[in-house]
Amino acid sequence: MSALLATRPRTGAGPRLDVDLGAVADNTRLLAGRATGELMAVVKADGFGHGAVDVARTALAHGATRLGVTSLEEAWPLLDLGVPVLSWLNHVDADWAAATAHGVEVAVPSLQHLAAVAAAAGRTRVHLHVDAGMARDGADPSSWALLCRTARRAEQRGEVDVVGVMGHLGCADRPGDDCNALGRTRFAWALEHARAAGLRPRDRHLAATAATLTDPRTHHTMSRVGAGLVGIDPSGSTVLRPAMRLTAPVISVRRVRAGTPVGYGHAHRTATATHLGLVPVGYADGLPRAASGRAEVLVRGVRRPVVGLVSMDQLVVDLGVRGVDLGETVTVFGPGDAGEPTVAEWAAAAGTIEHEIVTGLGARVERRVRSAAHLRSLS
Ligand SMILES: *Cc1c(COP(=O)(O)O)cnc(C)c1O
Repeated sequence: MSALLATRPRTGAGPRLDVDLGAVADNTRLLAGRATGELMAVVKADGFGHGAVDVARTALAHGATRLGVTSLEEAWPLLDLGVPVLSWLNHVDADWAAATAHGVEVAVPSLQHLAAVAAAAGRTRVHLHVDAGMARDGADPSSWALLCRTARRAEQRGEVDVVGVMGHLGCADRPGDDCNALGRTRFAWALEHARAAGLRPRDRHLAATAATLTDPRTHHTMSRVGAGLVGIDPSGSTVLRPAMRLTAPVISVRRVRAGTPVGYGHAHRTATATHLGLVPVGYADGLPRAASGRAEVLVRGVRRPVVGLVSMDQLVVDLGVRGVDLGETVTVFGPGDAGEPTVAEWAAAAGTIEHEIVTGLGARVERRVRSAAHLRSLS
């Protein structure tokens, strides 16, 4: 054992992700201030890549009162946090009995799901889920009235408690789009039908981050926010604080002549004599290859272009005439305070959205979590 420990390699020599829970705390407070109802912290996909339990704890300490995830598997690690957890997006044969036994609330998007949940042991707290106009998750409007009536009968038999009705907007990142009015109307219609069936759902929720920030008419009794907690505002209306910083060392530096081809396919040729720095982070670590030729990093306080194609494990940076020392740190992205690129810039360079980058960072990236000040003072 001690021999093993003695030979354990040092960490910190490769790409490193710093997660700033102070940013999550600030974002949560801002969102809680905007929401007219309760705030559910959505921590699916490992808290959008930031660590589900860390993000959940921080959000709950700063204004969120509930937690939301997709699958039941994502709910189990959150059970100790002492607030209701809602899980949506489950297979019809999910372990509903376990959900009930552990007090996890579940979304019901179909009659089949309702039957399976009602058949499981115990009285499950459910949120009926209506498709508010994006033909994705949630019950089709043509089946909604029947779903409500059937759920009411299951409630009267003691099989479920319908504690919520939920929907989701398809175009909330474009606040002016007509699609949002349609979604609001569809949701109001769904609530009327639930009421007419005799249901009295306490939680009525439609808004995610974008609608929470832009349209109080969508707030009802609760907002479900995920992206906003970690500093992503899909509506582009509000300044939030990004919570990730990705750094990596320069592990080799070479001087090259003008016209030197770089990387696979010689996709880049140096325009002048310069120094090329090799950085051990690539698309297997979550940096999009599609950003090749456009992305930048920060080195010694200056933006430098990523040149050639981003490879699986590495990328090359044009360091300019002066070069840098081996082992110097490159900031791939961060909140932007020191001039470094942001996740938003990487996403734009790759033609994607920030969500895809923060949730896609690979297992080789070493993670370090910095507590919110308030959590630090508790420990
Ligand atoms: C992911 C998700 C959310 C959170 O959306 P954000 O835009 O990240 O705040 C809310 N509701 C549902 C159904 C989701 O899948």
